[in-house]
Amino acid sequence: MRMSVTLAADRRTRFLSQPVKLLIDGEFVGAADGRTFTTVDPGTAKPLVEVAEASAEDVDRAVAAARRALDGPWSRLSPSERGRMIHRIGDLLAEHTEEFAELESLDNGKPFSAALQVEVPLAVDMFHYMAGAATRLRGATIAPSVPYLPGKEFHAYTVREPVGVVGQIIPWNVPLLMAAWKLAPALAAGNTVVLKPAEQTPLSALRLGELLIEAGLPAGVVNIVPGFGATAGAHLARHHGIDKIAFTGSTEVGREIVRASAGDLKRVSLELGGKSPNIVFADADIEAAIEGAALGAFYNQGEVCSAGSRLFVQESQFDRVVEALASYASGIKVGYGMDPESQMGPLVSKEHQDRVGRYLELRHECGGEVLAGGELMEGPGFFVQPSVIARPHPDHRLVREEIFGPVVTALPFDDIDDLAAQANDTVYGLAAGIWTTDISKAHRLAKRLKAGTVHINTYHVFAAETPFGGYKQSGWGREKGDEVLDHYLETKSVIVGL
Ligand code: NAD
Repeated sequence: MRMSVTLAADRRTRFLSQPVKLLIDGEFVGAADGRTFTTVDPGTAKPLVEVAEASAEDVDRAVAAARRALDGPWSRLSPSERGRMIHRIGDLLAEHTEEFAELESLDNGKPFSAALQVEVPLAVDMFHYMAGAATRLRGATIAPSVPYLPGKEFHAYTVREPVGVVGQIIPWNVPLLMAAWKLAPALAAGNTVVLKPAEQTPLSALRLGELLIEAGLPAGVVNIVPGFGATAGAHLARHHGIDKIAFTGSTEVGREIVRASAGDLKRVSLELGGKSPNIVFADADIEAAIEGAALGAFYNQGEVCSAGSRLFVQESQFDRVVEALASYASGIKVGYGMDPESQMGPLVSKEHQDRVGRYLELRHECGGEVLAGGELMEGPGFFVQPSVIARPHPDHRLVREEIFGPVVTALPFDDIDDLAAQANDTVYGLAAGIWTTDISKAHRLAKRLKAGTVHINTYHVFAAETPFGGYKQSGWGREKGDEVLDHYLETKSVIVGL
């Protein structure tokens, strides 16, 4: 273990010792206008490395390369050759687990252990799972009956074809996993890609770019263009050379993506924000529910779109659960992500820390009681106290808006009939949690919740096999599972007169 960590540190030193470049057409290149931006270590507020900043011109080059690759060598590979390449990406990523865990921790702030044990293995799994999908893209055979052509016979079949050149825009909270969720199905379905990582966390995607080349992906199949949302991201979203946009990020920017892509009526899939209810019934295994509430609220500093940030606890157990959660929150060791003692890292940026800070300033006017945290922490990194607010007014902004930080509001409930309505009373619909030993009650409630993922007696399970995405303003479409492939495929009906 010690040896592999040292090795990882050496590799990281190489990767971080020079300006990191864009990946366009199989080559790592500087930006056309020579511009760079600085990524910052959110645990120290110090610069990490300079990264080439993609402009509209770089995005144009990347889109052109992706188009050439789509019409060229990539389309000539058999599905099994494509699948083997995707599997090899997973293998290479697994071989470099420690290195990627370090890059994620340094760039995003998250604890090294979370990246090492949870996020890099999930990214590996996503490539391995989707490798198998490449050879399972089946159509159907159909015997059409045509009422205005009596007596005529037809044979029809459908084929699934790649959508084409796909633009993918991802956020900063789990950068490598978001890249894997996007790239693996797009490649399995035979598309080519221009990927724009978040400006706060471009490093793991660019290092992954090196592994894509090592795995044998032909030049131009995946192009990676780090840069800013308003420039590189917006240009990609409205680019006429792109057939589909897949976006993960805030609901607000999701709306801009829809507007930008409307001109060409591009295919669009969106994974957006959330304010997910985590519901604890009095008959639950209370210790497990407390642990699940803490995981739901505080994993990854609460910077998780499906965070269980609205806790509902049945009145008779409310004080017990919420006090235990508050004591858990106060005991979390918040610190530098690469410090093995740290259980929670800093938020990703000063800007985001300020945003969460503005929400926390509302804590005394929300009608509730702050049982843990409530304040920003001393720097130089962008740390925030894990915070628990009990019994706020249900209509207060702290209960209704996505904070995307380690802040959970807890509300009591009594009337089970009213609970589904309360839980669904949000513009979002990404995830939910139910804690109970009454399995019928759990399934009855699961049916009534408007959420893309309902966890029962567990929380934050992100396996490659299960579809993930949102009802309502949490998005369009699903990531993962077999469902995601539908977003990366067109269906063609071929009809033969016999
Ligand atoms: P964001 O929307 O600000 O940025 C996301 C990405 O979009 C970044 O790469 C950014 O550069 C780019 N972008 C910004 N403006 C753009 C524009 N006008 N045109 C094109 N691209 C643009 O979100 P964020 O703050 O980076 O991430 C946090 C948000 O992401 C939260 O709302 C969270 O819920 C959501 N999220 C959702 C999921 C999910 O699967 N549903 C997963 C992770 C994060």
